[in-house]
Amino acid sequence: MIKEKVIQEKVEQALQLLSLAKDELSVREAMDIIRGVSKLNEVVSQTLALGENRGIIKRENNRIFILSREPFSFNIVKRECSANCKRCGKRIKICHFVVIEGQELGPYGSDCIKFISK
Ligand SMILES: [Zn+2]
Repeated sequence: MIKEKVIQEKVEQALQLLSLAKDELSVREAMDIIRGVSKLNEVVSQTLALGENRGIIKRENNRIFILSREPFSFNIVKRECSANCKRCGKRIKICHFVVIEGQELGPYGSDCIKFISK
């Protein structure tokens, strides 16, 4: 039960993060973004399924199209750090975080943050 609740929360977060991305992604790129929130397979598959159900994304062949941007507030914060980018795994010294409703997602390097929030 607890696990399901966690998955649900992660799915909502991943969906928000995904809706910030550029208009068209490969399925693999979309999965990379979702895995930045959670590596659980259930989260990845449910995020894509829920996104389609809600009309936020459309899946066609091997592409994901972002159809609507969820109205929520987000911020990008930047600070010095010593970490690995959540998306590409590269060592980074400047960390970028996407802050959605008070929760920080990241860290991401400067290239990856551009990819994640277009
Ligand atoms: Zn990166």
